[in-house]
Amino acid sequence: MISDKTQTTHLDAVIVGAGFAGMYMLHKLRNLGFSVRVLEAAHDVGGTWYWNRYPGARCDVPSMEYSYSFSDELQQEWNWTEVMAGQPEILEYAAEVADRFALRSDIQFDTKVSDVIYDEVSNHWRLTTDKGESIKARFCIMATGCLSVPNIPTIEGAANFKGAIYHTGEWPHEGVDFTGVTVGIIGTGSSGVQAIPLIAEQAQQLTVFQRTPNYTMPAHNKPLTNEFRRDAKSNYAEIRQRQRESQAGIVSYGFGLGGAETAKPTDSIMRTTKQQRMVLVDKKGFRAIHQFMDIDSDMNANEMACDMYREQLGRIVEEPKTAEGLMPRDYPIGCKRPVIDSNYYQTFNRSNVTLVDLRQGGIEKITQTGIRTAQGHFEFDALIYATGFDAMTGALLRMNIRGRDGVVLSDTWQAGPRTYLGLQISGFPNLFTITGPGSPSVLSNMMVSIEQHVDWIGNCISHMKQNHLQTIEATEQAVEQWIDHVNEVADGTMLTAPSCNSWYLGANIPGKPRIFMPYVGGVGAYREKCKEVANNNYEGFEFSGFGDH
Ligand code: FAD
Ligand code: NAP
Repeated sequence: MISDKTQTTHLDAVIVGAGFAGMYMLHKLRNLGFSVRVLEAAHDVGGTWYWNRYPGARCDVPSMEYSYSFSDELQQEWNWTEVMAGQPEILEYAAEVADRFALRSDIQFDTKVSDVIYDEVSNHWRLTTDKGESIKARFCIMATGCLSVPNIPTIEGAANFKGAIYHTGEWPHEGVDFTGVTVGIIGTGSSGVQAIPLIAEQAQQLTVFQRTPNYTMPAHNKPLTNEFRRDAKSNYAEIRQRQRESQAGIVSYGFGLGGAETAKPTDSIMRTTKQQRMVLVDKKGFRAIHQFMDIDSDMNANEMACDMYREQLGRIVEEPKTAEGLMPRDYPIGCKRPVIDSNYYQTFNRSNVTLVDLRQGGIEKITQTGIRTAQGHFEFDALIYATGFDAMTGALLRMNIRGRDGVVLSDTWQAGPRTYLGLQISGFPNLFTITGPGSPSVLSNMMVSIEQHVDWIGNCISHMKQNHLQTIEATEQAVEQWIDHVNEVADGTMLTAPSCNSWYLGANIPGKPRIFMPYVGGVGAYREKCKEVANNNYEGFEFSGFGDH
């Protein structure tokens, strides 16, 4: 690493973000012998798990699988305590990784990157931080996260609210004690669904403002036994291999601890009678719908499954008006990110919880003391936004990223993100995105997708070093073809149904182009494609320049 008189630091690579992606990328590049530094806005490692400290925050992928596989010592020595770990435990794990691999010495915390400018003459990226520093590097790797920019909707009067205001994605580190406090919460996505049951237990009164009810399945989380951990650890090599070959990076090994793994749906719901479906609901509750394969491809089949879902919901929630208010309608099951919960619907049977179904009259304004809706005014002391994120592109587009010829990323992506394999953008040489739009990313167990991208990028940069190559850049033609493919595989699935307003489509952010961003083709198939591209001398990418790094 060199610093010149203008205090510019020169590096082989700079990584933005110290979540699981940035941490592993740092470890990888350091081991390959590159000089590298990570710039991170937070005060410590962990990314998602550093910021999202709301009550109930936890992963919904079994932790034995939502964890790094790159170090066998790590996976053998770390002991997860629950099937799906809570945020504090996942953050402890991130800290353990940082300690074990001595990562912090190359991470600059409390540093937000504002500008990322490509200098064509010197073939360097110059990054400017909110500290006024300037860092030059041959390679720039964006590990800025897909869900790292909280979305606070613009609601009239929001600044007038006199009480405390929180966002689930920026939760105070010291925690919040809601004892004796009346609370209003906007949003019933995964974050709201996790937080609501726990806040309800503590708060004097909780008012839930729900614009769109979600389909949520019981998590059935439980402690892990020593026996299970031993068994899974002795099978880790096979579990990891199967994850990498799977559709979503999850094999649900021994989920439920009974040893039974997730079965593939095989039956057709269209061939069942209403009576048969109700018997299934009696026997299996919400799980009854998992056995049907046609609900992902046939809208009529899907609607039958939604009926079964609403039937079960109506059996849990005692007050018929509240049950009706919680029932999702008008969009298919499976179009949004799956939500799982612990006692979500049961929480609405509590006397201190009120549901405001905004479909019966929306929010008009936020007042000094609460929220005015078309159904009346609701007062509370504290307001929580569980309103999600500017997903997938938010963190990238908040920086001033300029590529070749000074082209600004926000212009290149005006009609939606355009990448090759979710790894690179044409016109932005030597800049990589980990789990970028156009890759399986948020449709998968992110740890599996992160590791795959980091390994691929590491191998690519090593290949360039060995062959004295100066730049790598995706061709416009490769981007075009890849995007066509990404759209083709998403079309016709529930994920792109016209009635679906998901953040996968950017539909949660007013004005954001409606484009399906992640790649539905599956982790296994995508991995093969990336391997094939690399084996074919990085087909679809162009290298240029010879010289030393
Ligand atoms: P992040 O963890 O988001 O890290 C990105 C980092 O970049 C952040 O620390 C941020 O501060 C930093 N950064 C961004 N912009 C800048 C900038 N301009 N300058 C400096 N630093 C910057 N995925 C799953 O697979 N399973 C789950 O169960 C799961 N649960 C989740 C629960 C919650 C509450 C949320 C919000 C997400 C969840 N996810 C889950 C997705 C999760 O984001 C990923 O699993 C994973 O943690 C992402 O890691 P990352 O390093 O790519 O990004
Ligand atoms: P989200 O899924 O986008 O949900 C946001 C909620 O806020 C929705 O109910 C949305 O309603 C509502 N909302 C937004 N703007 C509103 C407005 N102006 N008025 C009223 N309601 C408004 O966000 P999230 O719950 O934070 O989850 C985001 C993603 O993070 C998840 O999908 C998942 O990938 C990840 N996550 C995972 C877990 C986990 O269990 N592992 C937990 C939390 C988060 P509409 O639906 O009508 O837009």
